Amino acid sequence: MKKLIITAALTGSLPTKANNPSVPISPDEIAQDAYACYQAGASVVHIHARDRSGKATHDPAVFQDICVRIKALAPELIVQLSTGGRAGMSFESRRACLFSNPEMASLATGSVNFPTFAYSNPPQLIEQLAGMMCERHILPEIEVFDTSMIAPALELKRRGLITGRLCFNFVMGMPNIQPASIQQLGHLLSMIPSDALWSVSGIGANQITTTLFGIAAGGNVRVGLEDNLYLQKGVPASNVSLVERAVRLAEEAGREIATPAQAREIFGF
Ligand code: MG
Repeated sequence: MKKLIITAALTGSLPTKANNPSVPISPDEIAQDAYACYQAGASVVHIHARDRSGKATHDPAVFQDICVRIKALAPELIVQLSTGGRAGMSFESRRACLFSNPEMASLATGSVNFPTFAYSNPPQLIEQLAGMMCERHILPEIEVFDTSMIAPALELKRRGLITGRLCFNFVMGMPNIQPASIQQLGHLLSMIPSDALWSVSGIGANQITTTLFGIAAGGNVRVGLEDNLYLQKGVPASNVSLVERAVRLAEEAGREIATPAQAREIFGF
């Protein structure tokens, strides 16, 4: 059985400490949490930056600060920075994290409605972000919120704007996006090349469902407070508790957990 790569999505752009006191906000909190998740079994951390007031920021200095702190604590942990952002944000803002030269960065290859706003990724912006990642040898993780986001990723690969391994994360189970259903996962898998890597993440209570999907179907999983604030109904989670749960489920299913070194090999770094 393939080794399981666990990605911990620590912060996101929306959750606050009022929602869950364990959400890491400052660069130091994010780095400490990344280290704890690494010790628990995560080999990748997916990172968003916040300013001093706790709001999402695209300040390259904050991303850089977070990267330096994580590398000091866990040099082998794979850092994946988020290029996500609100509608209307320019390429200049959305690319900010790429100046830190992370090993990976997220790349949404289409637009979609989130519960209360549109997540806008126009074709030109996608191409600009992919081009900059390509120049800097940053591996994109394609964030797939709906079926229509696969074809543009395959096209980037065909045109040489993605040179590394195709690597997808299927985000499922939020209002207005694709459902966290086994039928939808099967459909997505039918659309990607057999040598592509894939991971799955579920929003809210769907996180455990998609974790089981990923483990059972031979994919990888993403867990963390960015996507889900609760371990179970009424029980607030921490990032570490969510990674630990994924590890427990994988062990029960006979899936070994990839170390960061093994994950590096799988990604082709
Ligand atoms: Mg994100």
